[in-house]
Amino acid sequence: MECIFCAIVEGKIPSATVYEDEHVFAFMDIAPANPGHLLIIPKQHYRNIFDMPAEIGSKIMEVAVLLATAIREALNPDGLNLFQSNEAAAFQTVFHFHLHLIPRWEGDPLRLPWRPSEGNIEEISNIAAKIQEAL
Ligand code: AMP
Ligand code: ZN
Repeated sequence: MECIFCAIVEGKIPSATVYEDEHVFAFMDIAPANPGHLLIIPKQHYRNIFDMPAEIGSKIMEVAVLLATAIREALNPDGLNLFQSNEAAAFQTVFHFHLHLIPRWEGDPLRLPWRPSEGNIEEISNIAAKIQEAL
């Protein structure tokens, strides 16, 4: 079965489009977490962040900045979240990279998906070193 977001880019499945350029496409999420919830995707199919070129990531981020400003202008939210999931373990359900833009209002029903609690500084430093070595 064809990827649903590729079908949206090709116009085979309708979407409420808000932005399009050579590489990037943006449309409203069909099941919005809040009014104004939209998705920014690369036109080319990449499963998620692990196989997307950094240059395409930069283009998506440029559009995120543009659209965040447009959302603020249009909807006057109190804030806005960028949200992005990679693989099922991290909540990904559509396997074509997408960045969620979710306008936020004081008192809306959305909650942080983790409970912050202080970490072990030695463990944090060891993990930082591991990530640096992997670069
Ligand atoms: P994720 O869980 O990060 O993979 O998010 C997938 C998102 O795609 C969800 O927020 C869905 O509501 C949204 N979605 C799925 N199908 C469509 C569609 N046809 N048009 C717009 N948004 C969609
Ligand atoms: Zn796709």
